[in-house]
Amino acid sequence: MSGEPQNDCLFCKIVEGHIPATIVRETDTTVAFRDINPQAPTHVLVIPRVHYPDAASLAAAEPTIAADILREAGEVAAEEKLESYRVVFNTGTGVGQTVFHAHAHVMGGRGMHWPPG
Ligand code: IMP
Repeated sequence: MSGEPQNDCLFCKIVEGHIPATIVRETDTTVAFRDINPQAPTHVLVIPRVHYPDAASLAAAEPTIAADILREAGEVAAEEKLESYRVVFNTGTGVGQTVFHAHAHVMGGRGMHWPPG
C-alpha cells in the first residue's frame, strides 16, 4: 500500500526529525514518543518508521514490523512500570483516527472502563 515516506504525513515528519517529539524509545523499525494531548498519565504512541495508513495495512505488508510495534508497546509499559495498560489501534475516522500513519496508543496510569466509549 505504501511504505515510502509521505510528504503530508505528520508522523513521517517525526520519524525524519523534522517535527519535534518527546521520544521515549527507538529501534531500527519503530519510534515511540509521548502523545501531545495525553489522555492518561502515560500515553505513548508507538509507530513504524515506514508509512502505512493503519495497523492492518502495516500488518499485511510488513508483519514483522507489526510485531515489533506490539513488542515495543510492552517495552514502553515496562519502562513506565505499568502493571495494567491498554494498547489501542484506532482504525478509521468513525472511531477517531486522525493521523493516517499506523500507530499504537499505549495508555496507563489510571483506571479505565470497559467497554470503551
Ligand atoms: P488517532 O486519533 O488514533 O489517529 O491518534 C493520533 C494521536 O496523535 C492523537 O492522540 C494526538 O493527540 C496525537 N498527536 C497529534 N499530533 C502529535 C504530535 O505532534 N506529537 C505527538 N502526538 C501527536
